[in-house]
Amino acid sequence: MDDSQPLAISAIQHFAYCPRQFALIHLEQAWADNRYTVEGLLLHSRVDEGEPEQRGNLRYERAVLITSQQLGLNGKMDLLEIETSYSPPKLTPVEYKRGKPKVQDWDRLQLCAQALCLEEMRNLDISAGALWYWQTRHREVVTFSDDLRQATLDAIRGAKEILLKGQTPAPTSHTKRCKACSLVDQCQPEVVRSDRSTFYVQELFKE
Ligand code: SF4
Repeated sequence: MDDSQPLAISAIQHFAYCPRQFALIHLEQAWADNRYTVEGLLLHSRVDEGEPEQRGNLRYERAVLITSQQLGLNGKMDLLEIETSYSPPKLTPVEYKRGKPKVQDWDRLQLCAQALCLEEMRNLDISAGALWYWQTRHREVVTFSDDLRQATLDAIRGAKEILLKGQTPAPTSHTKRCKACSLVDQCQPEVVRSDRSTFYVQELFKE
């Protein structure tokens, strides 16, 4: 992969969920839908259709294109809330998700990457964003702490390393994730896990 080619922000979530899933999608161009991905697509197409709106001091912009030259990222955020009573205006990125809040940081990393792009584009600090979960109708406020920022930078670096090396990692040990993964048929995690020769070949190519 060309190092100057930007990484899609949505790919960060794939990497955080499973580096092998990320590689199958973004390196090998494999894709398959399951119930979760179809529901996610429908939700996002509905969200993206909305027009910009002003309610008092709050402006809502939808399907906002964002990029970061420094991090080599680009993508689209579902919703940007702009509180115009502040100077400079207070920006809050909001990402819609089909499921429910998660213990793991997959969704938070994606949101934080959006904030990093916005900070660079608008030259201001963004302290928090929000994840809105369709299944539970729950809005989770996400503070962009130093730890979350660092974890996001680490995920961006890890994802780019896979693309640069051009090697698909071994299956994750989290078998629960495989059950919900739309790529389980292409990945065949149990076959690969039991085939020790795959690990042997990967060890050979490890730096
Ligand atoms: S099936 Fe499991 S190991 Fe394979 S890509 Fe999906 S989550 Fe990763």
